[in-house]
Amino acid sequence: MAHWNRLTQELDQWRREGRYRPLTVWNSGSGTWMELNGRQVLQMSSNNYLGLTDHPALKAAALEAIETYGVGSGSVRTITGTLDLHDQLEQELAQFKQTEAVLTFQSGFTTNQGVLGSILSENDVVISDALNHASIIDGIRLTKAQRKIYAHKDMDQLEDVLKQCSSFEQRIIVTDGVFSMDGDIAPLPQIVELAEQYDALVYVDDAHASGVLGKHGKGSTDHFSLHGRVHIQVGTLSKAIGVVGGYVATSQVLKDYLIHKARPFLFSTSAPPSIAAACLAAIRVLKQSSVLQDRLWQNTTAFRQSLIHLGFNTGASETPIIPIMIGEPAITMRFSDRLLDEGLFAQGIVYPTVAQDQGRVRLIVTAKHTDADLAFALDVIARVGREFGLI
Ligand SMILES: *Cc1c(COP(=O)(O)O)cnc(C)c1O
Repeated sequence: MAHWNRLTQELDQWRREGRYRPLTVWNSGSGTWMELNGRQVLQMSSNNYLGLTDHPALKAAALEAIETYGVGSGSVRTITGTLDLHDQLEQELAQFKQTEAVLTFQSGFTTNQGVLGSILSENDVVISDALNHASIIDGIRLTKAQRKIYAHKDMDQLEDVLKQCSSFEQRIIVTDGVFSMDGDIAPLPQIVELAEQYDALVYVDDAHASGVLGKHGKGSTDHFSLHGRVHIQVGTLSKAIGVVGGYVATSQVLKDYLIHKARPFLFSTSAPPSIAAACLAAIRVLKQSSVLQDRLWQNTTAFRQSLIHLGFNTGASETPIIPIMIGEPAITMRFSDRLLDEGLFAQGIVYPTVAQDQGRVRLIVTAKHTDADLAFALDVIARVGREFGLI
């Protein structure tokens, strides 16, 4: 069809460049071993850090909510779409995060759109880490605020930018808590100090830190004991929490403001009751015990050390996100394909998601991987790594 000529040409170009990726269709739920084309494959690419996607307490809560409330919420939050379950989830999350208030959204992505899109005016400047997530970049694009980017985690550059920005009405520093492609942690204590020195707000997106960092998985603010000094904490309910959704943990004033202003909140239907109920159950699981989080970190440390011992370059990883740095996009994707031949799924990540020479296979360790699973993965990675001359 003539209508799609330009799109077809672009798709063809991506095919030529080896960037065209058909969707992988799995025949089982998220887990450590998943079925793909009739074969069991060890999964090391999901964000299901604590294995909560099939936790019995979450499943029971979701089923009960469906029986009681039905499957949909029927409206946006501001009309008839705020059920007591949504309210309860926000209250328990605020208590868990030790903030005045929490407002939930349909996803982490829409949280960033809703919050950044609402709070930034043309008199403000937003100062953003170069490796921040796409949803932060898009959220900023929705506003007329001035944008400044500092090199990844470069605190000297951040300070220079802050010095240049004293004339703006408001300065907001935005950072991921844990960076999704490298698995490194933002230098939040230094960011908070600079923010206090130069009168800026601190906005941290804890998508990969929720359930992973801090006591009981409370996130990066708790990890660094910065309670009360980080103004806006965004979290996701879609990764370690095992369900779907996003939230902002902040002041009551900002919550009230967002209820009147955040467009995804105002103009898109709220989460189904089963989702709110499952998220509530997940927060209670986290609060009750840190067994899963402890296991996650034991697995993470052991697995990363083994990779380094074998001679792989795991980049800047400090968390369960562990890249194996390779470089060339085509080689990276071939490495990932070979791992899959051998029964291990580890997503290759290449340009334009990361720089041209920074291609990597990204492994994500979870609490549910057994010692035998991790030994299997290491054996496969070592064999394929030798084949590619990486070790
Ligand atoms: C995954 C992610 C999001 C999006 O969260 P969803 O709940 O999946 O929409 C936002 N920010 C960061 C940093 C992420 O890694």
